[in-house]
Amino acid sequence: MYVIINGGIELKRQLSENFQALEFACSHCGQLKISMELINKLQEFRNWVGKPIHINSGYRCPLHSVEIGSKRTSEHCLGNAADIRIDSTMNMYQMFTKLITIFPRVGMYHTHDGRGFIHVDTKKDQLFWINDRVNGTGKYIYFRTIPKLEEYIANTKTNWKALVM
Ligand SMILES: [Zn+2]
Repeated sequence: MYVIINGGIELKRQLSENFQALEFACSHCGQLKISMELINKLQEFRNWVGKPIHINSGYRCPLHSVEIGSKRTSEHCLGNAADIRIDSTMNMYQMFTKLITIFPRVGMYHTHDGRGFIHVDTKKDQLFWINDRVNGTGKYIYFRTIPKLEEYIANTKTNWKALVM
């Protein structure tokens, strides 16, 4: 089930205990299409972590997606994805380890020195990835399994297990 809101006062709607529709609206036009499966999974994570989750990006309309250099077919455009961070004191890898038990697809991004955010989505096709914009090229590196990801990050300049989000 998807919640679809065309901007305005309806965005004040509470989607779950801790998430409001507004937090997931397209930052460029205020439109929203969002999966309740995504919201429920995020709420499960929110309950576990016990701290506010900041939604960097939820729904993106196709125009906005292209504008920021992403694709019109991105899971963000389908309403199935969110980029999240917490409060810069939480260990990102620990959060990643929990999130992979809730979401089929989880990506870690290193965006500032020692800091980053995590992408989660509900597409039914298990996939994990890292994207290093600090010590790497910002290119996506994909993994089908966690052991493969662990093997890879054991040899990167970035210490992925020490980043905060
Ligand atoms: Zn938009």
